[in-house]
Amino acid sequence: MDKKEILSKFSTDPERYYNVKLFENQGFERKSCATCKRFYWTMDENRTNCPDHSDDTYSFIGNPPTKKRFDYTQAWKEVESFFVKNGHTSVSRYPVVCRWRDDLYFTIASIVDFQRVMGSKVVFEFPANPLIVPQTCLRFKDLENVGVTGRHFSSFCMIGQHSIPNSHGYWKDECVDLDYRLITEQFGVDKKEVVFVEDVWEGGGSFGSSLEFFVKGLELGNAVFTEFQGDLSNYKTLEQQIIDMGAGLERFAWLTMGTPTAYDCCFGPVTNNLLQQTGIDANDEIIVQYFTEIAKYLEQFSGLSEVRKNAIKSAHLSDEQINRIITPLEGIYLIIDHIRTLIFAISDGALPSNVGGGYNLRIMLRRIISTMDRLSLKFDVNEIVDVQIDYLKNTYPELEKTREDIKTIIGIESGRYENSKLRMEKIVSKLNQKPTVEDLIRLYESDGVTPDYLKEMKVISDIPSTFYSKLSELHQSKKQKEQDQLSLEGLPETELLYYGDDPKEFDAKVLKSFDKYVILDKTSFYARGGGQEPDRGTVGKFEVIDVSKHGNVIVHELKNGIPKEGSVVSCIVNSKRRNGITKNHTSTHILNSSTRSVLGSWVWQHSAFKEEDHARLDITHHSALTDDEITKIEKLANSIVEKDIPVTIENFDRGTAEQKYGFKIYQGGIVPVKSVRIVSIKDFDIEACGGTHVKKTGEIEIIKITRTKRIQDGVVRLEFVSGETALDYIKQHDADLIKKSAELKEKMELKEKRHGQKQDMKEKFPILVEAIIQNKIGTNNVNEIIVDITESGKPNFCSTTSEQYDEFFHIGLGEKLIEKDPWMVYCGVFEDGDKIRAIIYSGDHAAKDKKAGDIAKTVSQILGGAGGGNQRFAQGGGKDKSKKNDAIEKVKSMVLGV
Ligand SMILES: [Zn+2]
Ligand SMILES: [Zn+2]
Repeated sequence: MDKKEILSKFSTDPERYYNVKLFENQGFERKSCATCKRFYWTMDENRTNCPDHSDDTYSFIGNPPTKKRFDYTQAWKEVESFFVKNGHTSVSRYPVVCRWRDDLYFTIASIVDFQRVMGSKVVFEFPANPLIVPQTCLRFKDLENVGVTGRHFSSFCMIGQHSIPNSHGYWKDECVDLDYRLITEQFGVDKKEVVFVEDVWEGGGSFGSSLEFFVKGLELGNAVFTEFQGDLSNYKTLEQQIIDMGAGLERFAWLTMGTPTAYDCCFGPVTNNLLQQTGIDANDEIIVQYFTEIAKYLEQFSGLSEVRKNAIKSAHLSDEQINRIITPLEGIYLIIDHIRTLIFAISDGALPSNVGGGYNLRIMLRRIISTMDRLSLKFDVNEIVDVQIDYLKNTYPELEKTREDIKTIIGIESGRYENSKLRMEKIVSKLNQKPTVEDLIRLYESDGVTPDYLKEMKVISDIPSTFYSKLSELHQSKKQKEQDQLSLEGLPETELLYYGDDPKEFDAKVLKSFDKYVILDKTSFYARGGGQEPDRGTVGKFEVIDVSKHGNVIVHELKNGIPKEGSVVSCIVNSKRRNGITKNHTSTHILNSSTRSVLGSWVWQHSAFKEEDHARLDITHHSALTDDEITKIEKLANSIVEKDIPVTIENFDRGTAEQKYGFKIYQGGIVPVKSVRIVSIKDFDIEACGGTHVKKTGEIEIIKITRTKRIQDGVVRLEFVSGETALDYIKQHDADLIKKSAELKEKMELKEKRHGQKQDMKEKFPILVEAIIQNKIGTNNVNEIIVDITESGKPNFCSTTSEQYDEFFHIGLGEKLIEKDPWMVYCGVFEDGDKIRAIIYSGDHAAKDKKAGDIAKTVSQILGGAGGGNQRFAQGGGKDKSKKNDAIEKVKSMVLGV
């Protein structure tokens, strides 16, 4: 059964699903829309159509149906005071980064605040009943509509009205009554204007009938009566019914203000500031006309460009008016909307990146910059952030704390975008046809080229409407962990001794043993979890090589056999290993909070790994760490160690823990159980954690960061050691340092010596050359230099293979020799590391016949390598050091012909 079918099923029984006391008391009439046949409830006897098909659609623009005007801030105050007056608790918003659900990056509806996933089931946990919450929700699917339609936002405030029907809370009758009175009494809308439309809403595995409420064609909210779970054709009644009313705060404000768009009354003074800077007259009559037409056509056409085209036509806009007023206005709306979303997301600890939910934020910022570039708008983004926070903090005072951090992150990310522009220009210049949606996605995913940039470069004229939704889908699903499926049915929960006295030696009964696995009735072996590696030791006479958790059962993996089922075995946990791991685990908590206070509020634990002798902590951060930052982090962490602060562990009900400490406790991810184990190091670090910890921070002795590295966009890894391992590391490190500096010193001395030698040589060369040339007869030996002098007009030969000479010497001597005697051929052969090299010079006269290049080729062949050069100078060599003398003999015979 699909949604339409279940709706018509519910609508055949309106008494059961839709009729409420209010309708009877006030005399509402149930009607079917003349156009679409949907059922709705109204007090207006002349109404014939549902709000989607009425003539009064969006007639509140320029003509609001209320006497009082309320902007975004004031509208919330009205809503809040009304519900509080009527017995509701007003709850602060939850973070927009949805830390308590691992299937969502961002909070998309107010009800998500109170949903917790346990296994495959969604449960509801309310901090109060009934309650209301001004929940900021992020939605990126309609991004191309933002700024254009007058009512689409990338983030908006959902007024959440939630109740569980019991002695405190209520069900349908009171819910609809409250919503009706909110609109009519608190906001002062005429009773006849309120229309309730029958609908069905499903999400998160549950669903129910719902009543959407409208005024002047504007949907203000939807009251969902959640009472079923399962899918639409196969469902059963929920144990717990839930009132899930979500309304758009921006829409309440818009309705009372009657501005051309919802953007005009929901961002505070910033809109007018930017309009003034651009020179657009906000009161221009054509703006009202145009956006009223847009509102009408939005229901009629699905394509945005179609909507826009028709609105332009109906409002009789000239090209000049579009370019001067409408296009820049759309740009301004987009910029303000996107900056507001970034303010919330960054404030709650999300970073722009190319992975996960971070990509949405990156795209937002790039859209802001390309829009400014395309329209030549020169706005100061920091100033826009400031003005917006000044306004938003009336409703969300917590934003003040992260004001500077938000500007820092936006600044860094903008800089990166500017730097990547040159590369993007190149990529774009190579495009030879109009890109498809798939091309656009690939261009963004692999090259970071946004469609907004392509629009700016005039490669495309419009962004395809499916682009952002397709891209969103790509990034929606998160990876699910896979685990071996073992048959463990019927086994009781393992008693966890490590959460109690934590004995390192204990006896336990074997409940089940198979393959290489054993399950005990109780255990002190810590199972792999929360980045902490498992314990080792022995169970009976068998070595434990792995320990894992399957539901509530601990499975030990053994080597070389398993004990008998039913037997009692004595078990020993390797306590040295456990101690190392424990110190590293508490150190991870200390480092996590240290990095946050040194670097900024955006730092969250991304993941962690704790072994006996090493550990790592991956944090969310925008750039690689500098030496100075590392020093500061290490210093702060060690000051916490020195203070010897007690590490306390307490169990709380999950809801209580969240209310008391906030969502920062979920550094290690979500907690899928109702009771939360809170590990605190005073106020310095408070986390929900199931790992093992030291009793006082002093036990850690010392924390040493050994290496840091940016491992992916937005994630930095810190590798570290603690306790004894850290002390050993420092000792070793110091010894290495001493060794290194000694080596360096030696190197420097050698270099100086060589330099001295070279100077010496330079002075000696002329004398040496003179001696060689003077020695006219036969073969002689001058400093192991062999000289063959022939009669005048024939080539002479000089060579050396002496170990005491290097490249510098051969080049120096060869040059000078052939200068002095143009009939001379010089060959120097010497060893250089694992190679043997030859340097050849041939004087001007000798070179006519005996070219240096030819000689080098021949000699290199003998040495097992290759060589070459010109006729005057050449070099070569090979690896065969044993052929040294053969090589010289060959050269000699080539030159002298003997
Ligand atoms: Zn209709
Ligand atoms: Zn932990």
